[in-house]
Amino acid sequence: MSDAPSAFRQVTRTARKVHKCCECRRQIVVGEKYVYSSGIWSGDPSDFKQCALCNQAFEEATGRSDTDEYPLFFLS
Ligand SMILES: [Zn+2]
Repeated sequence: MSDAPSAFRQVTRTARKVHKCCECRRQIVVGEKYVYSSGIWSGDPSDFKQCALCNQAFEEATGRSDTDEYPLFFLS
């Protein structure tokens, strides 16, 4: 059971400074929406920033197309 994070939170944010997508390494520019995820995996807190394109691909891959504020792994 090491895959499931013991805490997980995901929010959509608008970049106020330049970030880098954790998946495609593309720059997330100021004003662009991105998805910020944080959680604790196996006791280690981590966070990820995912650009809109990667998040869209992720949502399609997991079959989610609903709201941008729905916490994907919450209560799962
Ligand atoms: Zn990306």
